[in-house]
Amino acid sequence: MKNKFELGFIEKLVFSNYKIRSKAIQVNGEIDDNFKLVSKDNIFFFKIYPKNTDKEFVKFQIDILHLLKKNKKTSSNTPTLNGNVVGSFQDKDNNLRFFRMNSWIEGRLWSKVNPISKSLRFELGGISAKILNELKKVKKGYVIENFDWDLQNFLWTEKYINELEISKRNVVEKLISNFKQEEEKYKQLRKSIIHNDINDNNIIISEDLKVPSINGIIDFGDCTYSQLINEVAILCTYAIIRSKNPLISACEVLEGFNNNLKIKEGEIYFLYDLILMRITVSLIKSSLNKKNNRDNKYLVISQDDMKLLFKNWSMINKELALCFFRKSCGYSPHKNEKKFSTIIKENNSSLDILFKTLNKKDPKAIDMSVSSEWLDNEMIIDNNRFEQKLKSNSEDKLLCGGYLEIRPVYDSLDYEKITDYGIENRTTHLGIDFWVNEKTPVYSIMDGFVKIITNDKTKKGYGGLIIIEHLINNIKYYSLYGHLSDQKKSKIKKGQKIKKGQKIGEIGNKKENGGWTPHLHFQIMLTLLNFKNDFPGVCFFKEKDVWSSICPNPEIILNIKLPRIKVQENHKLITLRKKFLGANLRLSYQTPLHIVRGFNQFLFDNYGRKYLDTVNNIAHVGHQNINVVKSAKKQLGILNTNTRYLHKEILDLSEKILRKFPKKLSKIYFVNSGSEANELAIRMSEIYTNSNNHIVSKGGYHGNTNYAINLSNYKYMSKGGRGKSKNIYEIPMPDIFRGKHRGKNASKKYFSYVQNIVEKSKMKKNKISSMIIEPILSCGGQIELPKTFLKKCKNLFAKNNILLICDEVQTGFGRVGEKFWGFELYDVIPDIVTLGKPMGNGHPVGAVIFSDEISEKFNNGMEFFSSFGGNPVSCKIASEVINEIESKDLQKNAMTIGNYLKKGLNSLATKHPIIGDVRGKGLFIGFELVDEKLNPLEDKAIYLKNRMKDLGFLMSNDGIDHNVIKIKPPMIFNKKNADNLLFFLDLVLKEDYIKYG
Ligand code: PMP
Repeated sequence: MKNKFELGFIEKLVFSNYKIRSKAIQVNGEIDDNFKLVSKDNIFFFKIYPKNTDKEFVKFQIDILHLLKKNKKTSSNTPTLNGNVVGSFQDKDNNLRFFRMNSWIEGRLWSKVNPISKSLRFELGGISAKILNELKKVKKGYVIENFDWDLQNFLWTEKYINELEISKRNVVEKLISNFKQEEEKYKQLRKSIIHNDINDNNIIISEDLKVPSINGIIDFGDCTYSQLINEVAILCTYAIIRSKNPLISACEVLEGFNNNLKIKEGEIYFLYDLILMRITVSLIKSSLNKKNNRDNKYLVISQDDMKLLFKNWSMINKELALCFFRKSCGYSPHKNEKKFSTIIKENNSSLDILFKTLNKKDPKAIDMSVSSEWLDNEMIIDNNRFEQKLKSNSEDKLLCGGYLEIRPVYDSLDYEKITDYGIENRTTHLGIDFWVNEKTPVYSIMDGFVKIITNDKTKKGYGGLIIIEHLINNIKYYSLYGHLSDQKKSKIKKGQKIKKGQKIGEIGNKKENGGWTPHLHFQIMLTLLNFKNDFPGVCFFKEKDVWSSICPNPEIILNIKLPRIKVQENHKLITLRKKFLGANLRLSYQTPLHIVRGFNQFLFDNYGRKYLDTVNNIAHVGHQNINVVKSAKKQLGILNTNTRYLHKEILDLSEKILRKFPKKLSKIYFVNSGSEANELAIRMSEIYTNSNNHIVSKGGYHGNTNYAINLSNYKYMSKGGRGKSKNIYEIPMPDIFRGKHRGKNASKKYFSYVQNIVEKSKMKKNKISSMIIEPILSCGGQIELPKTFLKKCKNLFAKNNILLICDEVQTGFGRVGEKFWGFELYDVIPDIVTLGKPMGNGHPVGAVIFSDEISEKFNNGMEFFSSFGGNPVSCKIASEVINEIESKDLQKNAMTIGNYLKKGLNSLATKHPIIGDVRGKGLFIGFELVDEKLNPLEDKAIYLKNRMKDLGFLMSNDGIDHNVIKIKPPMIFNKKNADNLLFFLDLVLKEDYIKYG
């Protein structure tokens, strides 16, 4: 057992034996006394074994390290002065104590690393396999008889089952009985010397917090001669602790391992149980240790996590786990996959049998994939529209398809799961859908007997469902018929024999089939995986290789061939972009996204991954808003021309917009973008004031055209910018958090810069024409103007014939919640207001609003004409955007959800000091990442947005120091969206790089 050695004693002991002067630090250990020794040039690990330790055991440890010398991931032995690798001394009680020393592997413990990434798990598997490849060479190991931690001795736990919580005992009893039954087979598995304890405190990780890697594996003290697969089970156990999807995480380890040391099919068979066995041993051991050794905390660490892992792991279907493991090791996930496909080709059935009475049996595939041009969003939410389109497409063909199709239609909660990768959705269809009318009779494709007959009542579930079991050449398989009519009324009974071609049901209507347009979901399975009343018809895209092996392509059994839509790979698009597009067109995120569909507050990538869009303020009333899309389509089909003809749409829209403004702002021009709007506003102001000098704010952005760039400090001062033009006068960014002036008098102080410029320009007879500013600076970092700043400016300008231009391109249309326009927050009326972005919900349209007076002066003889500005299609779309804002009360939603989100962010800020400031109004929010001295943390903002993207949230960083995360989602953002966002932000803010990087 352990002694409490004085550190001074250890330092002396080390000096006398190794001539190394060092500082000793106690290190955790189960039964040994361990120390870290820090000398001038080196760090060592020093271990004193308990009394009565067999010297051969110590030597064995040393031999192992020696053998692994070339392996860069393990320590090397340090011999004593007289060349021995094992040293000894007599302790106070006159016991002979052995000790040894080896190099120290620097780094952090795996147990302290957050997050544990896929690549770490993969690397761990690989390193362990490489170590085993060396250890396999050891012919004779030091055998500890009846070693409890050796999984081949697992049955010792039988006596201690009461150490476990009651809820766990049943599971373990079954585990023990399984193990007894299979023990002979298990004993035949290949054996080797294994580390046997690569737990999360024996894996050392590099200090790189962004892309960590494994520095080494320590502590070979539990090395034993045992089944090789036990090593994999142990690795997996500790590498999946705290994982939200432990099966996938275990596969990540397994893949890494198998890449370096091929695992055999017979070994994989035991892996699921062995992992549960290791968890069980750990729980029982810790319970026993707690009783025997109350003061050694090391012995009970991570038990809460272990308990949770026990629960999560035991809930995983063992057969499914086996399929996943087989896939990770390069075997067909379901063992019968290949055999079945050969046999069934020769023993197939047909559509003539499945739909005996149907006239049209010539199949025609329809594309319901996420990138389908056939399937618009309206069809997803409106069955009638979907049906109409089906009818218009059907001709005399049988419409069908969908095997392994990635679909955007599964939007109920049943298809959603929180995993280590965020909120993930099942998208990938495992059967074929046949779009036939309700009441169409359905016939069994083969002989068999009814295994499941039920009504699945979940929303967007199967409704009426029958599963029939078949047997062919000793292979069992199942055919599934979903979306049938009410099965309570069926005469077919569970267990009943069914003949090939026997009628088994009818296609159900929407009320009985889970709420779908009538169709048959037909699927083949090689196992039921213990499902009693259901079977998944859709899987996660990432898991498709496993599920498609369990659920083979039904086309084979039906003897049909349908075309398959290929997912377009991103790298090809990236190459083409580079080839065709200008080089400074940037892509968001470290790994760019290929977005193929938008709907409401979500965007979908080509793999069907659904992203919550927290940043696109252009999709103001939601991506592909159904009513906006409808209006656009309608008007495009009638007329699109310019403003030189009379048409009603421009007048309707003018009326709708101007009604939202104070009376003084009574005139409007329509343009095509925010930049064009600002160009026009500036031109108007120059004509009105007969001057071309303008005041801008640092951090301001007003567009990408020449003049707009000249007005945009954010651009002209950044990399590639040509600096400030002579006629532009800057004021500091009125940032009260990190700006030049903070606190109470900030408004006055920032105003004083404006005052100075105006006064100086008067003296130089260099008159100022306008000041252009956003009510909340967006690119500058979501900076709200100090309270009375704008009013002070306006008063000054009024006296000096200077125009105030408010750029509402980002802040307008109700986004700021309290008010419809940003300028209203400050109780001023600008002279000119410019609009853009959200106005067309993605369609390019902008506007300039101004007074009669300005209108008159601007009408100086030159015609104002914009080819596209004010065309009927754009006007119709913008009108519909306003209708949507009003009918759905989106301004109010922006205020309610914005306040809710801000409150949540503020409470995150109290937990995570990196959030220095939360600001903004309505759904125009920013939070700023800073250190304790308020230095901006751009790298962390970039890390955060990329991690959030991995978790399914689109966010973006901005601000002059790029350290502000901006949140300006579609205005239909709801409380659940806000909750999800806050939940995952909290997780990422806890990650190592954010906390310690
Ligand atoms: N003003 C502001 C405040 C903007 O944010 C933008 C666009 N980011 C513009 C003007 C320019 O608009 P557009 O890109 O439509 O020309």
